[in-house]
Amino acid sequence: MNDLRELYQEVIFDHYSKPRNYHALDCANHTAKGHNPLCGDQVTVYLKVAGDVIEDLSFEGTGCAISTASASLMTEALKGRKIAEVEHLFHDFHKMVTESEDEHHPDLGKLEALAGVREFPARIKCATLAWHTLQAALKDRKQPISTE
Ligand code: ZN
Repeated sequence: MNDLRELYQEVIFDHYSKPRNYHALDCANHTAKGHNPLCGDQVTVYLKVAGDVIEDLSFEGTGCAISTASASLMTEALKGRKIAEVEHLFHDFHKMVTESEDEHHPDLGKLEALAGVREFPARIKCATLAWHTLQAALKDRKQPISTE
């Protein structure tokens, strides 16, 4: 378990220090802003949706290691996915970071690096902020979302 924990920390640090898809998306047809006042994390998610597929997505923002790594991992995991798959993945991801049992979620791939967040309840909102913001973008919500 310790090896796994170290690997998870490496993945989080890697995505925090070199966030993937970290830019505005000129061709985006959905965007939303999210804010986690508890920690001060801010994120903007950009999506280019064609039919029922997320063709491209990106993010910008400022925040802690967990919120930045989570947004970066999310953009990597969701590129090219169908919207129905996104809902399924968010359901599994949310379960992973909020429920106590040590269940394996093979569908989540690298997103499993954030499993350790469940031991730090205050950080769960950091880990889910990008996902809530993505859902707001898909629904074209104009008001910035807040985790509070
Ligand atoms: Zn945070």
